[in-house]
Amino acid sequence: MKKVVKFGGSSLASAEQFQKVGSIIRAEENVRRYVVPSAPGKRFDGDTKVTDMLYDCYETAVKGTDFAEKLEKIKERYNEIIWGLKLSLSLDGEFEKIRELFAQGVGSDYAASRGEYLNGIIMANYLGYEFIDAAEVIFFDANGEFDAEKTNKILSAKLRKIEKAVIPGFYGSLPGGQIKTFSRGGSDITGSIVARAAKADLYENWTDVSGFLVTDPRIVKNPEPIETITYRELRELAYMGASVLHDEAIFPVRSEGIPINIRNTNDPSAPGTMIVENTCKKPKYTITGIAGKKGFAAINIEKDRMNSMIGFGRRVLSVLEDNKISFEHVPSGIDTMSVFVHQSEFEAKEQKVLAGLRRELKPDYMDLDSDLALIAVVGRGMRATRGTAGRIFSALAHANINIRMIDQGSSEMDIIIGVANSDFENAIRAIYDIFVIAQL
Ligand code: ASP
Repeated sequence: MKKVVKFGGSSLASAEQFQKVGSIIRAEENVRRYVVPSAPGKRFDGDTKVTDMLYDCYETAVKGTDFAEKLEKIKERYNEIIWGLKLSLSLDGEFEKIRELFAQGVGSDYAASRGEYLNGIIMANYLGYEFIDAAEVIFFDANGEFDAEKTNKILSAKLRKIEKAVIPGFYGSLPGGQIKTFSRGGSDITGSIVARAAKADLYENWTDVSGFLVTDPRIVKNPEPIETITYRELRELAYMGASVLHDEAIFPVRSEGIPINIRNTNDPSAPGTMIVENTCKKPKYTITGIAGKKGFAAINIEKDRMNSMIGFGRRVLSVLEDNKISFEHVPSGIDTMSVFVHQSEFEAKEQKVLAGLRRELKPDYMDLDSDLALIAVVGRGMRATRGTAGRIFSALAHANINIRMIDQGSSEMDIIIGVANSDFENAIRAIYDIFVIAQL
C-alpha cells in the first residue's frame, strides 16, 4: 500500500498544525510515503496566507521600493514554525537568495512558489524524508502548459529510487528552467501528479473540512457530508461552484484509476469523502449534492417552424461566438429556444448580440430574462430512481418558487433548474429538505 498525502495551507499554518500532520504521517509511516505540502495558510480569521505575502512583497520589490520589512515578516512565519518544532534548521541562506532574486525582478511565479518550497524544506527536515525540488520533476512546456508526459516519465523514475520524499506543491519549471506556478490552489494538482507518478493506491488530500458536503454550509446549516462521490459527479458540482479541490486536480489520478480521499487534518478520525471513478455503493440519498450559481441571463428566441429549420441552433450560437460569449444551457421547445449566458459577460455586449441575432435569424419574437440562478441537483442514484424530478418540482412549488428553466443532462446524473436569483437560497434549502432531511 502506497499513499501520496497532500496537506493544504491551513494544515501547515503553524507549528501546532505541523505536529498534527506529523502524527497523521507517522500513523501510517510506511504507507504515507510521499508528502506534498502547500505554503503556510491562515492561522486565524483575518490572517494572511504566506503566498499572498510573497506576491505582495514581490510587487513592492518590482516597484523599486524597500521590501526588506515585508520579506522579514515572511521569514518570521517560517521561523515560528521551525522554532515551534524545535528543529535545528536555518533558512537564512534561502532568504538571502530570495532577497537577491527579488531585487533582480525574478518574476512573480518564482516569488509565489517560495511559499511551498520553503515549507517543503521544513517538512522534509521535520519528517526525516528526502526533499525533492518540484522544479526538477514537474514540467511545463514552452507555451506554459503543464507537460504531463515529460513530468510523469522523470518523476516516476525519480520516485522509484526514493522511499520517502517531500515534494512541494504549486510549481514546476519551464523548458528554460524558470519557475512557473499552477493557478491558485494548485498544490492539489501537484499531489495528483505525484500520486500518478508513484502509482499510489490512494491520493489523500488533507484540508480543514471533513470532505465534501451535500450542499453549501453557508446556505444550509450543517449539511450532511458526502461519503463517496464519482469523478463525474464531482465535475458537475465543482463546475456549479462547489469547491474543496482544485478543478484540474482530478485528471492525473483519474487517468490511472487512483481514488482521492478528502480528509480533515483537524479531525483525522473522520473518514472524509472518497472520490472514485465508479462505485456500486448505493449513495445514502438519491442525490449526491446540490450546487448552484447566480448571475445568469436568458435570451429567449421564438420563430415559427424553427424546429424544421436546419442550422438554426448553430446560427444562434455562432452569433454568441462572434461576440466571444460562452453559453451555459440551451433549453429549446418546438418554436422556441433560450440561451443562458453569464449576465456579467453578456451585459456589455447585449445590444450587439441582439442585433446579430436579429440579422442572422429574423426571429418572430425575442426577449431577455435577467437575474437568474442555476441550480444543479447531481446524483448517480437518479438514474435508477423514479420521481426525482417530480420531487424537486413539488418541493419548489411548496416553497413558492417559480421554476424558470429545467434541463436534464443526457447522463441522467443531473437536473439543472433555473430560478430567480432571489429564490436561489430558498430553492437549495427546499431541495435539501426533501432529499436529505426527509430521509434522515
Ligand atoms: N499556496 C498556493 C495558494 O495559496 C497554492 C496552494 O495552496 O495550493 O494558492
